[in-house]
Amino acid sequence: MKTNQTLPQINTDYMTDFLARLLDTPSPTGFARQAMELVEQEIAKYPEVKVEWTKKGSLLLTLPAENSSGAAPTRALTAHVDTLGAMVRQIKPTGRLELTEVGGFAWGSIEGENCLVHTRHNGTVRGSLLPREASVHVYSSVRDGKRDSQSMEVRLDERVTNVDDVRDLGIEVGDFVSFDARVEVLNGFVKSRHLDDKACVAAIVAAIKALHESNLTPAKDTCFLISNYEEVGHGGSSDFPEGLEELVALDMAAIGDGQASDEYHATICVKDAGGPYHHELSNKLRDLAAAYDIKIVVDTYLHYSSDAKAYWRAGGDAAVALIGPGVDSSHHYERTHIDALVDTTNWTLAYLLND
Ligand SMILES: [Zn+2]
Repeated sequence: MKTNQTLPQINTDYMTDFLARLLDTPSPTGFARQAMELVEQEIAKYPEVKVEWTKKGSLLLTLPAENSSGAAPTRALTAHVDTLGAMVRQIKPTGRLELTEVGGFAWGSIEGENCLVHTRHNGTVRGSLLPREASVHVYSSVRDGKRDSQSMEVRLDERVTNVDDVRDLGIEVGDFVSFDARVEVLNGFVKSRHLDDKACVAAIVAAIKALHESNLTPAKDTCFLISNYEEVGHGGSSDFPEGLEELVALDMAAIGDGQASDEYHATICVKDAGGPYHHELSNKLRDLAAAYDIKIVVDTYLHYSSDAKAYWRAGGDAAVALIGPGVDSSHHYERTHIDALVDTTNWTLAYLLND
């Protein structure tokens, strides 16, 4: 494959700094506005990018090619800013909160985590997620008891003992709850909840910055959908321009027994729970990685779908593919390595700069 450009330099400190800020901004699906505004503010530093808010609350970024036709872009990338989280289902007579989950996670993965309840008028109340029977000194059920929405609850850091006490804090059924991300960057690793998929949003922002600073433009007019409903399955089902020909979703790669992916590389997923991705587009991305000497992994995922599949399910007819960094312990306390983030960003740049 003949390539058009050498890749511009990525500022990795910038990427991890922005990623940490994004991770620390709560955005459970349905409540992603603040995180989306953080992306908007960051992208405002690159005035060549046109920014549009969609009716659904996602951000559509458009980066024109040098010889832009001015028509709607035929090429798109997407990454999602929404994360796992929860909603208040019931205020219990004890003053504790029953939750209903937003997105697919195992309740054991949030045991002991601190959280914020986001009240309807922009307040926050601090708390922790615990089994109702938590004390090992009192309950024999703690060690083996099932963790689910019935057995776990929020203990608020307020002196509350009944429903009215909780209501007086402004908390009501339907309030969003976000779990602390617990971001840590060390030895090249980034640990945090919700690297899925903020890592890829940071990769897109870092790629845009790298192009900006090198005075480069994409080979074709390109749009980036920063979506906000991926974790519940329909982030990519709308908001792309008409006439799209190619859509590349950037989302994390799953790691575990039988998976080829690891934390140090970017992966292309060629099949997930929704079936195979577009073979020719996947091959094009694999050829691009080889041409730029980016060592990538090819993998398939079992219990996984992406916004590219949401786009197909909604009737979209463009070719779609899925790439992203390997993320250990996905939908739990996740971890990736800067090498995987850099490779994902370079791969994205390689795609942007070539026809
Ligand atoms: Zn994801």
